[in-house]
Amino acid sequence: MNTVPPTRAAHWAALTAREAPFDLLVVGGGATGAGAALDAAARGLSVALVERDDLSAATSSRSTKLIHGGVRYLEKAVKEFDRSQFHLVRDALRERAVLIHNAPHLCHPLPLVTPLYEWWQVPYYLTGLKIYDALAGRANLAPSRFVDAKEALQRFPMLREEGLRGGVVYHDGQFDDARMNVAIALSAAERGAVVATHAELVALHHEAGRVRGATVRDVASGEEATVTARAILNATGPFVDEIRRLEDPAAEPMLDASSGVHIVLDARFAPPGTGLLIPQTEDGRVLFLLPWQGATLVGTTDQPAAIERHPRATEDEIEYILRHVRQYFSLPVERDDVLAAWSGLRPLVSDPQAADTARLSRDHVVHVADSGLVTIAGGKWTTYRRMAADAVDAALALAGIDAAPSATEDLRLAGAERLLPTGAGELQERGFPVDVARHLHLAYGDRADAVAEIAGDGDAPRLAPGHPYLEAEVRHAARAEFAATAVDVLARRTRLAMLDATAARAAAPRVSQILAEELGWDAARAEAEAEAAVGWIS
Ligand SMILES: Cc1cc2nc3c(=O)[nH]c(=O)nc-3n(C[C@H](O)[C@H](O)[C@H](O)COP(=O)(O)OP(=O)(O)OC[C@H]3O[C@@H](n4cnc5c(N)ncnc54)[C@H](O)[C@@H]3O)c2cc1C
Repeated sequence: MNTVPPTRAAHWAALTAREAPFDLLVVGGGATGAGAALDAAARGLSVALVERDDLSAATSSRSTKLIHGGVRYLEKAVKEFDRSQFHLVRDALRERAVLIHNAPHLCHPLPLVTPLYEWWQVPYYLTGLKIYDALAGRANLAPSRFVDAKEALQRFPMLREEGLRGGVVYHDGQFDDARMNVAIALSAAERGAVVATHAELVALHHEAGRVRGATVRDVASGEEATVTARAILNATGPFVDEIRRLEDPAAEPMLDASSGVHIVLDARFAPPGTGLLIPQTEDGRVLFLLPWQGATLVGTTDQPAAIERHPRATEDEIEYILRHVRQYFSLPVERDDVLAAWSGLRPLVSDPQAADTARLSRDHVVHVADSGLVTIAGGKWTTYRRMAADAVDAALALAGIDAAPSATEDLRLAGAERLLPTGAGELQERGFPVDVARHLHLAYGDRADAVAEIAGDGDAPRLAPGHPYLEAEVRHAARAEFAATAVDVLARRTRLAMLDATAARAAAPRVSQILAEELGWDAARAEAEAEAAVGWIS
């Protein structure tokens, strides 16, 4: 067990103090990189992770929050009778069950209704979703079934009634992506991994043509340190080609990106407990409308996009989503109803070593450069654990490191080890309001007590009216979850910035003030942090 406290400063110090090479240096602290750090640490290896922003700052906090095999990948598999696509869906469905088992506070099964307005669609979608169930095998969550128009409307009262034939109800998993990322990183740190956030890899070092280390820069102070490692894993998501070009400016790109926008509406659009799958958008895609954290999450788009650090939702993309909501709902919805909108970059990978490099796929690719730099890209949140295990296997084989096989399949993540179903009830007994008790239980699992201790009692101040987030969570994030900026707290430790941009902007000065007390900032730094947070929130 690691005794280094899970703060950004302590882990930067641990990174720079180490003289011996790490077994593995992981670049990138999204789902894949954090997963790889945990995978390596759980095998007993020494591992460091460097992340230039925050855990899940890029794609991993901007997903649709579904743990799924992917019904649209299944459709592709059936239409093209593509065995590899079937395997992809089956493997992801198995992982769905693993994630729910390993982090039950953060992940749960969610029924979804597919509304159908043509009779021919009923056998088509029902058969498809029965195949989905069959592929899941013993890991299936519940059998898919037809529901008549009356039941579909009971589940989704605002659905357009005219012409509705019925629907198919199927199940997938839903989760909190950014908090899952924190839980994975904490689990890695507790097994000895160094997790240095706000630490950017700026150069790679070689010895006899083999990659052996890196220069890492503390983003806040500009201080640089050399980190050596027997193997280096590039898990930088949309940015993998940037890292590959540090050692080979002519490296063939592995990746294209498309932008995926989500909007957030209030809870009226999705009753708690059921999601909606719109099976066919105007450009032949699927769109989800999901209850999430007391609001409604709708997405996503798929537009070719430039690779940038903070992609933003365009008005066209927001309007595209609103148009579909209007088409399916009898409830009027306008631009002013959008509480928040954000964009994530979907990495579309091709393996430069594969024969058919033109084919872009959503499967993951592990690529090994001549220098030994291992790059992992693509895949899904749902399959992060398998991707991490594959990448660590490749890195270890290359570096000639003998280690135990991956041990994460049955590894309960931080917050899940001593989780009790009675957790929320106990917090209520201590005086916390129902919404706060439920939120703390689901977000922190068996560590909710630590936040409750800081909060003191049930009257503890909230970050924003109408939201369950407490000021105490800001302190906890800085003390125990690597948070180092106001955006870290507003967007990823709590999800306020992704749910309600106006409330998050209003909370930014207070969050910065609390962080200033925790992290020793002066007034000018606190003010600058608040301003930066307001600028970040779209
Ligand atoms: C719109 C959208 C919706 C999605 N929905 C789902 C879904 O519902 N379910 C699902 O299973 N999957 C979903 N996915 C896919 C899933 O989100 C991604 O597969 C996953 O988040 C990728 O994680 P990653 O760690 O590879 O990349 P990222 O999360 O992008 O992490 C890469 C990290 O590397 C860091 N980095 C970059 N350069 C450096 C450097 N020089 N030094 C240090 N660090 C660096 C970045 O800051 C970043 O944090 C969705 C994706 C998108 C875009």
